[in-house]
Amino acid sequence: MIDVTSYLPARRRPSASGWVSFNAPCCEHMSETADRRSRGGIKTSDAGWSYHCFNCGYTASFILGRNLSFKARKLMSWLGVPAEEIERVNLESLRHRSMTGLLTDRERTSRTLQGIEFEERELPPAAELVTAQHEPHWTYLRNRCVPEDYPVMTVIENDKVHWTRPQVIVPFTYDNRVVGYSSRMLDNRQPRYIHDTQPGYVFGTDLQGADWRYVIVVEGVFDALSIGGLAVLHADINDAQARLIRSLDRQVIVVPDQDAAGMRLVDRAVELGWSVSMPEWPADVKDVNDAVIRWGRVATVITIMQAKETSRIKIELSKKKLLKNKTK
Ligand SMILES: [Zn+2]
Repeated sequence: MIDVTSYLPARRRPSASGWVSFNAPCCEHMSETADRRSRGGIKTSDAGWSYHCFNCGYTASFILGRNLSFKARKLMSWLGVPAEEIERVNLESLRHRSMTGLLTDRERTSRTLQGIEFEERELPPAAELVTAQHEPHWTYLRNRCVPEDYPVMTVIENDKVHWTRPQVIVPFTYDNRVVGYSSRMLDNRQPRYIHDTQPGYVFGTDLQGADWRYVIVVEGVFDALSIGGLAVLHADINDAQARLIRSLDRQVIVVPDQDAAGMRLVDRAVELGWSVSMPEWPADVKDVNDAVIRWGRVATVITIMQAKETSRIKIELSKKKLLKNKTK
């Protein structure tokens, strides 16, 4: 991890409270006269850093595990941190993702014992973080209700044919390490998705809160991102995926896409003895992401919990009813 203090001006003064003051680099970019009275202050810790300027009022902070905000990036570039270095900090931060995602040591140990491991992989070359500067990528992610603190990447140019298409790249992580990714193309050509994934992988384990009692299992990456669920990435749950999901030791609720293919996921969930939820959404709401876009995350979770079902007979009835409604 980069030590931001190594980029501070040579003339700097530490204080007893842990702040280091120096001539603020921000003011001249904020239409103020350049600071000559050491009015910029930064405080660092293992968890990140915080900056404040008492001349122009500029503030920025960085928390390890989150992506660099626009203001933090600007401050770093004013301090003379090279652009590649800033991108590297982002990726390092992603690998240390710690927020709500950290699973307990006990869970991690049990998974290691069960041999659930994935190799670390690289993101596409020249991948960079999507920020408000990237259009249409940024708007696409906001429209699909992807949380702003999930680091989604894009590539601007690359040799390989696929990478020349406009796209957003969702890093696949496991224990906060990058183990693959899914690219969603933003043009209307096929294929719409390109995955780099590993057998038995389930997306979203790092999105789970340590104290959550339920885990919502869905098909697609965007469904999972928008609701904090797990994505099995197709309309099936293979044995290795089932083992990984079981290892989380929570009550599992499978929410299928509301179409014929989704019903295969339901059959598999019943086989595994898991709950299924098929809320009575209108015909044009066909998956969790559609529902979150329309009603928001909390309301969608509530409809999912209300429609949760474990009885095999009731699940069969809901399946029939759903297919009838959706094909009307
Ligand atoms: Zn300033």
